[in-house]
Amino acid sequence: AGGTQVCALVGQGISQSLTPALHEREGAAHGIAYRYLTLDVAMDRVTDLDLGALLDGARAAGIRGLNVTHPFKQAVIAHLDDLSPDAARLGAVNTVLFDEDGARGHNTDWSGFARNLDRGFGSDVAMDSVVQVGAGGAGAATAYALVTRGVSTLHLVDVDRGRAEALADAVRAMANGPVTVTADDLRGAAGRVAAADGLVNATPLGMADHPGMAVDRSWLRRDLWVADIVYRPVVTELVRTARQLGARTLTGDGMAAFQAVDAFGLFCGVDADAARMLAHVGEL
Ligand code: NAD
Repeated sequence: AGGTQVCALVGQGISQSLTPALHEREGAAHGIAYRYLTLDVAMDRVTDLDLGALLDGARAAGIRGLNVTHPFKQAVIAHLDDLSPDAARLGAVNTVLFDEDGARGHNTDWSGFARNLDRGFGSDVAMDSVVQVGAGGAGAATAYALVTRGVSTLHLVDVDRGRAEALADAVRAMANGPVTVTADDLRGAAGRVAAADGLVNATPLGMADHPGMAVDRSWLRRDLWVADIVYRPVVTELVRTARQLGARTLTGDGMAAFQAVDAFGLFCGVDADAARMLAHVGEL
């Protein structure tokens, strides 16, 4: 449509995603004619999807950019012409922007978490030593954000110790300066948490269909800040328990909002209103 900016989300199982409404509401607030579509790839089509053809088709159709989610964040890279330095370091792309030079990949998951840390904690919490539980896709973005924001000792914990080890290797390679990164399964975690400034949850634990929390409540204490990336519900059992102890907390809606803020800025070329998008994440 003439003058209408069109973007889309590509992923599997995304038909209920709130991202389209989040982007379109922000576009409307800026007076931008903006349509945001979902390209939901059926589970049985994931392996034989021709991502290169999909990107070419989207570009030929005049689509400005794509958000890319599970399970395509790594696979899409082979089909891009260029990567932002952060996306290259992370080896994962959640935002693709088309221009005259081709398709460029960005990663706003890590910047979304980093900006949420900045907004929520500023410089008034200690960030030397942090334990992160969960070393999956989202955990790679949060780990990169943590070392980028000055964490010098990062303890990665995952039920699957191999995943923690693989991410630890990747974080050491990504980090610009000296950083100590360890990998444990849950047996080694209590002692790490006891000596840490902060705890990040990057497991699905706390979601409505994954109730509970990945750490034992006896590990939490008033002077251990907690950042959860689960955002449905916004106040997870982990966040609620930490707050009861008087600890500083960050909820996952901030990461979700800020990754969209940064993607919106790339797609529309104007700064989104972060407070407004954060409020919309809460309403949607
Ligand atoms: P993933 O499946 O790639 O990774 C999850 C990791 O957690 C796996 O390595 C798994 O072994 C580990 N794990 C599971 N249970 C555990 C436990 N009890 N203790 C320790 N480790 C455990 O998933 P992902 O894509 O990384 O996403 C994780 C969660 O993050 C999602 O469920 C979602 O709720 C949340 N998320 C939030 C945002 C946001 O913007 N706020 C973005 C992406 C994901």
